[in-house]
Amino acid sequence: MYVYLNDRIIPRSEAVISIFDHGFLYGDGIYETMRVYNGVVFKLDEHLNRLYRSASMIGLALPKDTDAIKIAVYETLSANDLSNAYVRLTVSRGRGPLGLDPDLCKEPTFLIIAEEFKEYPKAFYENGVRLIIPKTKRNFPEALNPQIKSLNFLNNILAKIEAKQADAYEALMLNISGKLTEGTISNVFFIKDEILCTPSIECGILDGITRRVVIELATREGITVKEGEFTKQDIYSASEVFITNTTLEVMPVSRVDDRTYEVGRVTRLLYKAYRQEVKAYVADVRSSGPSIWGYSE
Ligand code: PMP
Repeated sequence: MYVYLNDRIIPRSEAVISIFDHGFLYGDGIYETMRVYNGVVFKLDEHLNRLYRSASMIGLALPKDTDAIKIAVYETLSANDLSNAYVRLTVSRGRGPLGLDPDLCKEPTFLIIAEEFKEYPKAFYENGVRLIIPKTKRNFPEALNPQIKSLNFLNNILAKIEAKQADAYEALMLNISGKLTEGTISNVFFIKDEILCTPSIECGILDGITRRVVIELATREGITVKEGEFTKQDIYSASEVFITNTTLEVMPVSRVDDRTYEVGRVTRLLYKAYRQEVKAYVADVRSSGPSIWGYSE
């Protein structure tokens, strides 16, 4: 297995990063997780746009332009002979002396890890997963904006620890005003009175790429979508709940705290619509002819 580190593909076993890397020392860096279907990276442009946005929000100049990153991603996939994969792209501030000043680091560290995608258990999709609302509150935007997809994951990890202690799959955090935000690695949706509800960006969430696709698909299906501020009472009184992210896609929720839900009609419909959207996207990229960042046979 190979990874892409800085400017080249190297065997995993040879890939090392300095103990002075500020990503390691201070969590100073950003990342993206992408899903590859049949050789095609789903929504690659959207992921790279978000990577650039995260970089600019922390004042980090990416060491490569978009095309060079796309080539690097596809080279990593090809070196590992992967067509259904999980790709993690990380850029840290790089190596520098001790101290928080980002200018101490002259060059960012750029890393791509690609692994074969392991399907989630079918039972998750058939029965749904369990959520809790943890005590840990989501970082608020004026402190550490959740729109920065950063290496600083302790906020989410603290909530995840609570979820694990409660034997739940995911923790759905509230913001400091007690409004719903998002899971530790996912966005949340629920259906109430036939309306598809999801916390708005202003509540302090990462604007998930899957979230955006699901909103578009729901609108196309004639479902009313409401992005806004919601409380935990709203989700307790919902008829269906699901979470989304790049790898989970549309994952039904069977329980939030003590409230239980069936895997309902809207969740199933959007799950199917999402799968179809992926198929159409992949077919479209593959038919656009061989290119380094499309699929080439
Ligand atoms: N929120 C958080 C905190 C996340 O880590 C993720 C996963 N990247 C998401 C939402 C979902 O984002 P996406 O749909 O782009 O994977």
